[in-house]
Amino acid sequence: MTPTVVRIDRSSPQPRLLDATGPLISIEDEGYTRGDGAFETMLALDLTVRKLDLHLLRLAQSSRLLHLPRYDDADWQAAIELALSAAPAGTPSELGAEHTVKLLLSRGTPAEGPYGLVVVSAVPESTIAQRRDGVRAMLLPRGHDPAEDTAYPWLLAGAKTLSYAVNMAVLRHVRSLGAQDAIFTASDRRILEGATSSVIVARRDGDALTLLTPEPSHGILPGTTQGAIFEGARADGWELGFGPLYPADLLESDGVWLSSSVRLLAPVARLNNQALPVDRGLTDRLLGYLMSR
Ligand code: PLP
Repeated sequence: MTPTVVRIDRSSPQPRLLDATGPLISIEDEGYTRGDGAFETMLALDLTVRKLDLHLLRLAQSSRLLHLPRYDDADWQAAIELALSAAPAGTPSELGAEHTVKLLLSRGTPAEGPYGLVVVSAVPESTIAQRRDGVRAMLLPRGHDPAEDTAYPWLLAGAKTLSYAVNMAVLRHVRSLGAQDAIFTASDRRILEGATSSVIVARRDGDALTLLTPEPSHGILPGTTQGAIFEGARADGWELGFGPLYPADLLESDGVWLSSSVRLLAPVARLNNQALPVDRGLTDRLLGYLMSR
């Protein structure tokens, strides 16, 4: 199914619906040729984007780090509305009709400069299935500690840039080994994040429940899904912890999830060669915090 594409430009922020069956991107576009740009991937349920405020905030932060212009939230909102109004049918699930909504902000061509796109498509069934079935994940080294990058703004730590080739390469690597997802570790084995997700860990101690995640501001991407779940969990009386976490913390936990905006929560059913507890009740409780936001 062809996605719906809407373009916004700084010079004329009026959104324009494009014909996605034809050429859309110039061969000189530096978002395409250099991965020079930022993006957000969001979930729309029954044509309403979830936690749009958090995504627009993170896109503004990425734009600032990349020295790209910031569009008004109202301009993005008008473009999203237009794209959703022309969208193909969403994938039906127990949550509603599901669409993936991507915001892309490219450096553009040297002649024309930056511009934004909104791309709407139906969520793949396989993504929805991983919420229920969970994933087999592997721990893989990131090579260095991204916290070291935070001192150097040109390394773009914490920005969600269009340069995702490494994130895609690690997924191909784990798939070639029979797993479905990857969790990056730093050189000291500290847990960082998934290839396209945040890591959430639950620990039970009698009646006390603790929810843990690696420190979000230390060079990894601050996940909007993780943030929203932690907000709900805090209000519901959970203890919250922000790392550092090591492989043993995951292997000895009462549950590990990969959280991201479209897949929502994928329980990690197996980490390397070890089975992990998958607790549907806990998953539903965390999902409830996210959905009630
Ligand atoms: N970390 C990385 C590297 C990601 O690519 C993503 C999402 O794509 C996340 C974390 C989770 O972010 P969010 O929950 O805002 O989708």
